[in-house]
Amino acid sequence: MRIVAVTKGHSLAAAGAAVAGGLSDLGENRPDELAAKAARLDDPSIRWHMIGHVQSRKARAVAMSASLVHSVDRLKLARRLSRIAEEADRCLEVLVQVNASGESTKGGLPVASAIDQIGQVADLRGIRLLGLMTMAPLTRDEGRLRQVFGATRELMESAATAGLLAGRELSMGMSNDYEVAVEEGSTVVRLGTVLFGERPGALGP
Ligand SMILES: *Cc1c(COP(=O)(O)O)cnc(C)c1O
Repeated sequence: MRIVAVTKGHSLAAAGAAVAGGLSDLGENRPDELAAKAARLDDPSIRWHMIGHVQSRKARAVAMSASLVHSVDRLKLARRLSRIAEEADRCLEVLVQVNASGESTKGGLPVASAIDQIGQVADLRGIRLLGLMTMAPLTRDEGRLRQVFGATRELMESAATAGLLAGRELSMGMSNDYEVAVEEGSTVVRLGTVLFGERPGALGP
């Protein structure tokens, strides 16, 4: 089980404190913030995780500063990251993000039709596809959470059985739902609020 400490919206000092406390996996959801924090902390023991949407024009910054990109949500982005990583002779690990809740506000490939694109991502030479990531709906309905996480796990298992994955990783679970996610097979939880408290400004005035 890996914990990614989500430092988005928190200071460099907070990120540094997490590292001093033994958390060496840090996550950001915006490419600019990730690149800036990675450059300023400049610690080779930190593994940086890109967990948010990546616009195509930010692909280079992400490919050069992240160790693992959780949020590969389209083939075009996968191709671009692969090409950049290959040119830079970098090994970039990725997860395909799936939308297992069906909510239009969530990114990711629809689970029902994802396997074909997962196969195409797996074929790219510049990246290593380790598994899948998903975001659950904001709900306390445990049955609903289990359904979303379970569907993601089943898709990961199908992809692994088909020989498409270089790992069996499942990035599932945030502060409000990580217990259920872990019970449903998560291997990577992305935790912000439970580690650092509310994000400054997150609550508004
Ligand atoms: C912000 C964020 C998290 C962490 O959220 P918390 O509720 O603060 O734990 C996890 N995953 C993604 C994709 C995020 O954007």
